[in-house]
Amino acid sequence: MVLGFALAGLLQVASVHLQPGVARPGDAVLVTVLGVTKLPTGTLGPDTLDFLPIADGFQALVGVSVEASLGTRTLTVELIPEGGTETTIIGSLDVVEPGWPKRELKVAKKFTNPSKNEQLRSARDTKAFSEAFDVDLEPWLFSRDFVWPRPKDITAPFGDLRLMNGKKKSQHFGTDLDGNTGDPITAANAGEVVMVRDCFASGNTVLIHHGGRLFTAYFHLSKFEVKEGDLVQPGQRIGLVGKTGRVTGPHLHFGVKLDGRWVDPSSVLGLKFFEISPALPVVTEPQAVGG
Ligand SMILES: [Zn+2]
Repeated sequence: MVLGFALAGLLQVASVHLQPGVARPGDAVLVTVLGVTKLPTGTLGPDTLDFLPIADGFQALVGVSVEASLGTRTLTVELIPEGGTETTIIGSLDVVEPGWPKRELKVAKKFTNPSKNEQLRSARDTKAFSEAFDVDLEPWLFSRDFVWPRPKDITAPFGDLRLMNGKKKSQHFGTDLDGNTGDPITAANAGEVVMVRDCFASGNTVLIHHGGRLFTAYFHLSKFEVKEGDLVQPGQRIGLVGKTGRVTGPHLHFGVKLDGRWVDPSSVLGLKFFEISPALPVVTEPQAVGG
């Protein structure tokens, strides 16, 4: 049933928009609600939507878990249109096979058996990451879409499954971008630098918070060009490509963390935060919306 028809003219100004239309496990999904002034609530499958205020409504960015099962997930948004009563808008999102490449790891022995000191160092790094990621939910700090921090020459995509003797050893929760030591790295968007640290595994690491508990991460740098607390602009230089940490050659590992979950940077780079996609066909029953 079409909601505008069922509930008369009042609701026609409120709309819900979903990007992308189809997602893979590990993708970020953007839900935009326009035409309301009261904070909406909602869920996408098992995940809660944390809406942030934007100029003419609200947005919530949510990461589909890399462990998500394939199939259709229900989007439910509860909103109060201007002058109306609380309304539930239901849509759906198809989660499709990601087709992650698998490859056998070739790792030097020094990387497979960290010493006691290295393990302690690694534990301190984990704590530093947790502290950097522990921020309040605040509106976006950016006003344009995300851009790659290096030319988009991907040497290892997000989701790559690393096998050791044919068994899953780890998964790649970032995108590796080609580069030589000393090549520039730029901020993927405006934000606040929340960590600048020499880490055991990720080497010289920069984390930038972009609002909404959305972070970009830059690993293995040879040089830092920002410090903690700096506010950076999109495209601003933050450091240089290197091979610090547990890597065998120079490259930039670029990660995106969203509310505690690593998501595919390509999915975030593909989102149009400021050009809103067509409104969802609004229905009152979940089965009525197709992919
Ligand atoms: Zn990587």
